[in-house]
Parts: sequence; structure tokens; C-alpha cells
Amino acid sequence: MSNAYPDKLQLHIDGEWIDGEDRDIHQVVNPATGETISDLPKATTADLDRALDAADRAFPVWRDTPVAERAAILHKAADLMRERAPEIGRLMTYEQGKPLGQAIGEVTASASHFDIMAEEAKRCYGRVLVRPAGQNSFVKYQPVGPVAAFSPWNFPVFTPVRKLAPAIAAGCSIILKPAEETPASPIEMIRCLVDAGLPSGVAQVVFGDPAEVSSHLIASPVIRKISFTGSVPVGKHLMKLAAEGMKRTTMELGGHAPVLVFDDCDLEKTLDLVVTGKFRNAGQVCVSPTRFYVQSGIYDRFEKAFTERAQKVSVGDGFDAVEMGPLANPRRPSAVGAMIEDARTKGADVRLGGERRGDKGFFFDPTVLSHVPLDASIMNEEPFGPVAVMRPFDTLDEAIEQANRLPLGLAAYAFTENLRTANLVGDRIEAGMVAINNLTVSPGDAPFGGVKESGHGSEDGPDGLKAYMVTKAIHQA
Ligand code: NAD
Repeated sequence: MSNAYPDKLQLHIDGEWIDGEDRDIHQVVNPATGETISDLPKATTADLDRALDAADRAFPVWRDTPVAERAAILHKAADLMRERAPEIGRLMTYEQGKPLGQAIGEVTASASHFDIMAEEAKRCYGRVLVRPAGQNSFVKYQPVGPVAAFSPWNFPVFTPVRKLAPAIAAGCSIILKPAEETPASPIEMIRCLVDAGLPSGVAQVVFGDPAEVSSHLIASPVIRKISFTGSVPVGKHLMKLAAEGMKRTTMELGGHAPVLVFDDCDLEKTLDLVVTGKFRNAGQVCVSPTRFYVQSGIYDRFEKAFTERAQKVSVGDGFDAVEMGPLANPRRPSAVGAMIEDARTKGADVRLGGERRGDKGFFFDPTVLSHVPLDASIMNEEPFGPVAVMRPFDTLDEAIEQANRLPLGLAAYAFTENLRTANLVGDRIEAGMVAINNLTVSPGDAPFGGVKESGHGSEDGPDGLKAYMVTKAIHQA
């Protein structure tokens, strides 16, 4: 693999790497420059049918492959990912924009995920129920069948790995459609699996018009499970398609993470964590800390210190030594800018930034909005950009009420040195993950997923593996 971005990309179907030939093309753009860097072939209907047929053929073979062999291939793929992380990270920075160190870190974290799921699969024990002598009832977990998975552009490798690793470990075949905007890094991740010896048809990668690909794959009787990471409206749409065939779904949708900062927190430590966390991946993270509810006693100090630190966040091409790259596509600066303008009009105080940066690529200022009114769209919809919004609160009850006021519930954070406050926040916040005095909600061995409109089903850890399995009872008399 060379260091340059390939000018032509491929699909991987039925064990074959497939060129564009006369297929329609999606142009891949470098978000740091706005320039087209590659042509990505879009799968035809015949390609999708071939992928479905291959997934159907591969499933029984892979299901019946001993778990130790499945695990060994995943471990080998993990080793290859670690070896190739610098090159795969470079591709990711070209196509997604994030700083190279973050991109390489994403690839190595994804490799660990293959390792985790390989080991989880070996320990996916069933149960033997209590029965009279001579009779037996067992509960077994079996792979659900061929899977269709759809992943977004913000974490081009980690998000698909969260679906591929458990599906493959469980014994399923899987057709992945990553985001067309960030194709090369997930293609290279699939290549690691292929080079590690994964049989043909077990993991395939297609691209195309997202709505056409998803409706075609989900409608096929071959597909037994759908996994999607992306926006709430698209998740709802895919669930409706899945309902037609009563297919299982895992939906990891948007968030709008509240951050409750209490008077008694360790302010310096809190600031260190939340400023870095806010601007990681330019805020294009479903668990990005975003709605800062800060207790009145420290509100002014927190806002001032946060703003001073945010001002120092270096922004530029991800290949330079910067902390924040561009936004990932041309939709983001205009969407984020419109939300900020709406908040400004409704009375928010723009403490920092708020504008598109430069005339090349899709850069945006690190932005801090203070005293943001609740009716501003940014208090209600995920900005998915480098914007922190702040409001003061007085009591614990008020903070929890504010945190829970949206129909979303993915991640939530709190900073306090008070154990009782920490316990109550942990119990009462409506979110799939609550992190107290830290921002780690995605360690790999813990469930990751949302409540309310943020989706359902968990990824990662034992729960993430079970999402690709069905529970069966067998009764012997
Ligand atoms: P979008 O809703 O059109 O797309 C989100 C993702 O879904 C993309 O990867 C896209 O390729 C895919 N997609 C869209 N329509 C699809 C379909 N019919 N079938 C299958 N896949 C489909 O919007 P966008 O402009 O890419 O992002 C907008 C918002 O989506 C963001 O502001 C954010 O709220 C959310 N988002 C969330 C995540 C996440 O990690 N949960 C990731 C990316 C985007």
C-alpha cells in the first residue's frame, strides 16, 4: 500500500476486488482542500444481488467454522491493522480530515476491537436448565444470519468495525456499506480481514446511493439483521424497511450529550478533559460533550477558562501538527453555521468563533456559545460540529431535568467530587452511557448505545456480540 490516496477505489464482492469499469462514480473529496481525490464505483443492482448471494452461501460455512478458527482470523486481522495503521490513518486523514494522530489512533483502537470480539465469541456460553433425570433443556446462542450494516463518515473505520467484529465473531456473514465520503480507510480495513484469511463472502463492501443500497439489501430475504449508525431520521426510515421483514435491528443514532458541571468539581481537571473532548474530530462525534450545564457558583469562571482554552485549539490540515481538522463534508459548515446564527438571533452570547474559517476546504472555528436560550435549535438538535453551548443551573434536580429534556439519550457526563451527586446523576440521567469525572464511554468491553430516539441495542462487549445472535431453546425428553 502506498502513502498516496488511490485515484481509483474498489468494491469487494464474493471474494473479488471490483473496479469501476462502466459503473456510476462517486467523487471523493479531501475536506481540507475541497478537491476531488478519487473515484469510487457505485454498486449496480446486479452487484448487490451478487453480494447477497455470496453472503447467503458464506453464512452456513462460516457459522459451522469452529469458533477458535474464527477468533484466530480476527486476531490476525487485528495484527495487520496495527501494522498498517500508519497507512490506513493517512487515508482517513485525506478523506475525513481528522488529525493524523487521531486517525491512526482510531485504527489501532479498531484493531483491539477485533481482539475483544474474538475472545467474547469463545465465551458466549448458553445455559442448561434444571430438568428431571433423563431430560434436558438447553439455551443456545446461534448467529442470526447474513447482516447488512451501514456506517457513517465521522469514524470511517471504528464504526464499521463495531459491526463487523461481532458479526464475524458470532459466525454471521456481513455486507458493509460505509459512507461514500470516506471509503478508502474502511476498504483497507476489509483488506486486513481478507489478508488474514477470512473466507470469501463473509465480509463484503459495497458503495452506492445510500437509499438505494439500503432498500435493496434490507428487502432481501437473505438479510436477517440490520445495523446502522447515523442520524435519527435515517434510522427511523431503515427501521420501517426492516419491519417489513420483521428483521432485527441495532440503531446507533444521534445524541446531544449533556455535561453537568457542579460547583464542587475539580475545575482544572474538568477543563482539561472537556475542552480536548469537545474539539476531538471537530465535534463530529455522536457522544461529543455539547450541552454544558454549569452550576451558577462557577459558571463565569468555567465559561471564561473554557473559552480561553478553546481559543488556543489549533485548526488546520490534519497532516499538519494541529488539534482540529476541517469538518468532514460541505454540508457541515453550513449546517453548523445556520444553528449558530439561529442561536445568536435568539439571544445567545457568542463568546468565541461562530464562523467558517478560510476559503479553502470545510474549516470551522472552535465555537463557544453562552446563555443559549432553550428555544434555539442548537439546544435541541445535535450540532455535530465544534460548538460548546452553555447554560447555568442552580440545583441538582434542575440539572437532571435539563439533561433529560430532549428526546435523545446517548451519552451524558458529569463532573463533581460529591459521591451522592455522582450516584444520583448516574441513576437518573436518561442515557445509554454516563461518564462521571471522565469522558470515556467507548472502552470496547462495555455496552455502547442509546435510549429514547438515540436508538436501541448495544454495541461492544458481550451485549454487542449477542446483538448478532438469536437465542434458541432445545428441549429433550
Ligand atoms: P444523513 O442523515 O443523510 O446521513 C448520515 C449517514 O447515514 C451517512 O453515513 C449516510 O451515508 C447514511 N445514510 C443516509 N441515508 C441513508 C439511507 N437511506 N440508507 C442507508 N444509509 C443512509 O446526514 P449527514 O449529513 O451525513 O449527517 C447529518 C447528521 O447525521 C449529523 O448532523 C449527525 O446528527 C448525524 N450523524 C450521526 C452519526 C453518528 O455517529 N451517530 C454519524 C454521522 C452523522
